[in-house]
Amino acid sequence: MSTTWQAAADVRARVLDLVRLTPEQGQQLNGRRCARSSRTDDQLRPGGFAYTTGTGGHLAWPVRVCPGHMDTEGPQ
Ligand SMILES: [Zn+2]
Repeated sequence: MSTTWQAAADVRARVLDLVRLTPEQGQQLNGRRCARSSRTDDQLRPGGFAYTTGTGGHLAWPVRVCPGHMDTEGPQ
């Protein structure tokens, strides 16, 4: 493996700075990747909200997660 980026932690767990978003995090906010594991999956489901801060103030993004961990407290 030679990934240059770390898989982000659950983007819902903290407020992200829009200016410093990685492309991957942007995809998570747009529901194209799981907000928790960052996997791409056809079965992503609504998984709560992630929050960002930036020039527009605080924004809430309805993010999606894999079916396997819909609950924030659930096992991986
Ligand atoms: Zn996932």
